[in-house]
Amino acid sequence: MHNPDPSFMTSDGLNAAVDLMRSPSGTPGDDLPSVLPESGVGDMHALEMLSGYVLGKAARLSAPTSLAHMDPPTPWITWAMALWDASLNQNMLHEMTSPFATQAEARVMSWLTPYFGMQGGHFCSGSTIANLTGIWAARDAVGVKRVVTSEAAHLSVDKACRLLGLELVKVPVDSLGRLNRELLPDLDDACLVLTAGTTATGSIDSLDLIGAARWTHVDAAWAGPLRLSPAHAAKLDGIDGADSVAVSAHKWLFQPKDSALVMFRELEAANAAISFGGGYLAKPNVGVQGSRSAAAIPLLATLLAWGREGLAQRLDRLMEVAESLADAIEASERLELWGRPQTAINVFRPVDRPTDAFVEALPAGMLSKCVLDGETWARSVAANPSVDIDCVIESVLAASRDDV
Ligand SMILES: *Cc1c(COP(=O)(O)O)cnc(C)c1O
Repeated sequence: MHNPDPSFMTSDGLNAAVDLMRSPSGTPGDDLPSVLPESGVGDMHALEMLSGYVLGKAARLSAPTSLAHMDPPTPWITWAMALWDASLNQNMLHEMTSPFATQAEARVMSWLTPYFGMQGGHFCSGSTIANLTGIWAARDAVGVKRVVTSEAAHLSVDKACRLLGLELVKVPVDSLGRLNRELLPDLDDACLVLTAGTTATGSIDSLDLIGAARWTHVDAAWAGPLRLSPAHAAKLDGIDGADSVAVSAHKWLFQPKDSALVMFRELEAANAAISFGGGYLAKPNVGVQGSRSAAAIPLLATLLAWGREGLAQRLDRLMEVAESLADAIEASERLELWGRPQTAINVFRPVDRPTDAFVEALPAGMLSKCVLDGETWARSVAANPSVDIDCVIESVLAASRDDV
């Protein structure tokens, strides 16, 4: 007898969930049980109970004051696709369990790889995994023995070297936060990891170093999407000579987590190095992850809805937002700017007040902090297209005076 379980079907509860999103100010209701409940409260009650927590107590990444982190708000079309994705639960591991999703990923890849000069690649859960995958390919496709990167590289490069058993050599940075090319060691047996948009200062390493090592991986987790903006694409010129490139889609492509791309210039050779066959697999499993979500579908929807132009307009505006904040900081005698923003990240501090107190005096989520050469700086990252930069500038200038 066919006995469908209503918990697995569409329900009015979904409309209720969307209604709750429109007024997310609800306060948490009942306390969450401290041990696994013996009997459930039911789907609708669980929805209502959680709205105060999940919606009510989240960090507000779309707030007009949100400028602290690389985590953008996401466009609603991605919420719709994420809902569909969750309900369909396709698995990229087997084409049989993801017939359209597999095509969607191939299509998005073919839309984006030309901007990076890459032949193809795959989605993964973040650039931590994308960097690991690129460095893994470097080790097993061309036999690199060590990894050379700058002291400003993301800690995922350290993790990848630890996991892969590769020696890591860190090169100091220059005054612009870029790998200091004067101090590069011999690169014959090395994978050179260059960063396009360092996490702390948004600096772009000199991409004309691509080709100097046996393999070059570009960690473009943050700034990679600038390739789609005619106004800023040239900042990453030379990237098309890299052997592999990582880009986080859940940063400047405005995607829900977990979404990133790892791309290869010579796809077949790279895939051969990072693939495993298996008795139950029709096709080899490529990359680090096994089961994978259809994260390409929300990105497909975003790029379809916005076009390249719509994405570029948003990135260009965020670059301008960072410029106008930098102008205001430079014009203030109470603030010191670390350097002009390279990829919409500003690093600065008050001259007559501790940086910690300065950041804490501002609304949560307006600024973050970073440590450079042992000194603490305030940091802003323009990832939120809805930011009110005039309001931020006003608050920053006010907080730079410790008498307010
Ligand atoms: C964010 C970031 C990473 C890690 O990416 P996740 O998507 O958070 O795993 C790697 N490199 C750089 C430069 C980053 O900014």
